[in-house]
Amino acid sequence: MFDVIRIPAFKDNYIWLLRKGASAAVVDPGDARPVLEVLDREGLSLTSIFVTHHHADHQGGVSSLLAKHPAEVFGPAAESIHGITRPLHGGETIRAAFCDDEFQVIAVPGHTLGHIAYYGAGCLFCGDTLFAGGCGRLFEGSAAQLADSLARLAALPDETAVYCAHEYTEANLRFALAVEPGNRRLQSRVNDVAVARAKGWATVPSTIGLEKASNPFLRCAEPEVAASARRRVPGADGELAVFAALREWKNGF
Ligand code: ZN
Ligand code: FE
Repeated sequence: MFDVIRIPAFKDNYIWLLRKGASAAVVDPGDARPVLEVLDREGLSLTSIFVTHHHADHQGGVSSLLAKHPAEVFGPAAESIHGITRPLHGGETIRAAFCDDEFQVIAVPGHTLGHIAYYGAGCLFCGDTLFAGGCGRLFEGSAAQLADSLARLAALPDETAVYCAHEYTEANLRFALAVEPGNRRLQSRVNDVAVARAKGWATVPSTIGLEKASNPFLRCAEPEVAASARRRVPGADGELAVFAALREWKNGF
C-alpha cells in the first residue's frame, strides 16, 4: 500500500502522487512544476507515471517530468500521448515500479474514446470519468459508452476511494439537488461539502458507496431521478435515455 498526496494544479485539477518509501508515482500530471516541488521537498524519485486520457490538463507535464526522472509511463494506447512506454487498452493487470500493489486497468470510454482508469489497493484513479457528485462531459464518446463506463466503476466495492482529477463537487451537487431534491443522503452531502469548501478543504477522494447514494448519474433507475429527467426531455424512458437527458441538462446548468 502507498500514501496518496494531493497536488493541486491549475484552477481546479488534482494531480495524485503515490508514495511508497522513497519511490513515487503520479497520476495525470498536467503540470510538472508542482510535482517536481513535492518530489524535491520529500526526497522522492519518480518511477511511474499514469495517464488516464490525452487532455492537456492530464498529460501536459509528462515530458518535463521525464527530462528529470526516467519513469515508465502508462497510458491509453488508443490516444496520442507523448512518452508512453506502457500502452494499455483496459482489461490488463499491471505492476508499477514504485510499489508491489497490482492495478487493474479499466476501459472507460465516453469523456474521450481511449480513457482508462486505474484501480489498485482499494483506490480508483478515474481521471475525468466519474467525478464526486457528477461525471465527465461527452467530448468524444456516446452517452451509452459513458453510462457503461460508469456502471463498471459503480461495480467496484463501496469502500473504494475515488480519486478523480478535478474539484467540481460543489457545482456537481447543486445539479444533483435539482435532479433529486428528496434524497436525504444527497442533502447531507451538500451540507458537508459546503462546510468543507468554506474552509478551503478538498472534497476528493470520495467513495463508490457515497457516489452510488448521491450521484445522479449513477442513479438513473431511481424514480425521482427519472421523473426529473422526463420533465426536461419528455419521453426519456429507460435508464440510458434518462442518463443522456441528465448529461445534456447538466451541460447547460
Ligand atoms: Zn479531460
Ligand atoms: Fe480534466
